[in-house]
Amino acid sequence: MNRPTYRVTELLGDGIGGELSQAIHRLAEALPVRVEFIPVDLRVENRRARGKILYDEAVELINTTKVALKHPTATTEESPNAVLRRKLDLSVIHRPVYTIPGVPTNFRRELDLDIVRIATGGTYDDPGRMIGDDGAVSLRIVERRPVREAARYAFNLARKTNKIVTTASKYTIQKATDGLFEKVANEVADQFPEVPHTIELFDALLGKVIMSPQKFQIVLVLNEYGDFLSDMACGLAGSLGIGASANLGFDAGAVVRVALFDAAHGTAPDIAGKNLANPTAIFLAFAMLLYQIGEISLGQAVKNATLDLLREGVRTPDLGGAESTESFTEAVANEVVQRVATKTRPPAAKSDAPSDPGL
Ligand code: NAD
Repeated sequence: MNRPTYRVTELLGDGIGGELSQAIHRLAEALPVRVEFIPVDLRVENRRARGKILYDEAVELINTTKVALKHPTATTEESPNAVLRRKLDLSVIHRPVYTIPGVPTNFRRELDLDIVRIATGGTYDDPGRMIGDDGAVSLRIVERRPVREAARYAFNLARKTNKIVTTASKYTIQKATDGLFEKVANEVADQFPEVPHTIELFDALLGKVIMSPQKFQIVLVLNEYGDFLSDMACGLAGSLGIGASANLGFDAGAVVRVALFDAAHGTAPDIAGKNLANPTAIFLAFAMLLYQIGEISLGQAVKNATLDLLREGVRTPDLGGAESTESFTEAVANEVVQRVATKTRPPAAKSDAPSDPGL
């Protein structure tokens, strides 16, 4: 039987990146489709040796394959994530964050958030400058296009998953910048009359997510707010180590043009090479990639097999378990094979809906 083949750019990373790459290859072998990983070596030695040309090659390849999976890279002279985001014009980051029953957390409630963050601008594009010795200033930038792209993505996701969208900012104080953000978001909201839309002040939102997490589903925010909210939500959910993201670039018609998927955690140099790395986040990133290429039931199988095993206590040491990277990977791969073979529907999937059927 001819298996469908998908080409995926795989950006190799530092530290635990090698072990995570092996884990992904093992998991991909368990699927009834062929995933052809085309590697680009983004390890620090190669970056130093090849510089700009290496990034140009990576960008050209990703523009061809349309989807990429990135392993964590050490931030040294430059941040590869920031360089790729800029060169690929990845304007939106989608980060689902949810509590996993059974995974230890200090938070006693359930949380299930899709954070849609504008990946450019805000206060992050300008490091600022000193004014004399006693003051400093930096620019805060908000542009219509990325806000519109993020808003369309968020409202489309809400439409597909029957969820509500909350926009949050400080529009009462940052009248021009956050005011423009809310204005553009409202214009997009008007095109989705069936999607409930609520507006919060960002500081109030942080408190409300902690007190009443069930009231929030898809949250659309500017760059730095998304950064803060993502880490807070991951902390509430129990671990920074299980978060995964989609970094998205759009064409003029607001259809996803390229998508780069990665884990939120870093290179974990303290455990690199010890077979201790938890591959959960990269598996969840891979599940999102499968949704993106239209293999939705396979994406669900990967996601739910991973989460169900975690619930059952099959975990690596960072989550209190005794599994190694390899044994956890083996368990997930075997579970995926069984689920795919029996075509049993896994338990209700949470909300990593396909972000765009056009890709
Ligand atoms: P880190 O996320 O690498 O590690 C923080 C702690 O979490 C460590 O104790 C580590 O062992 C643990 N941890 C992280 N991922 C884990 C996993 N998959 N399984 C088990 N334990 C895990 O953060 P850091 O130490 O601040 O950063 C190390 C390097 O990673 C730095 O060079 C930083 O710039 C880089 N970094 C890269 C990315 C990325 O490429 N996306 C993201 C964050 C940090």
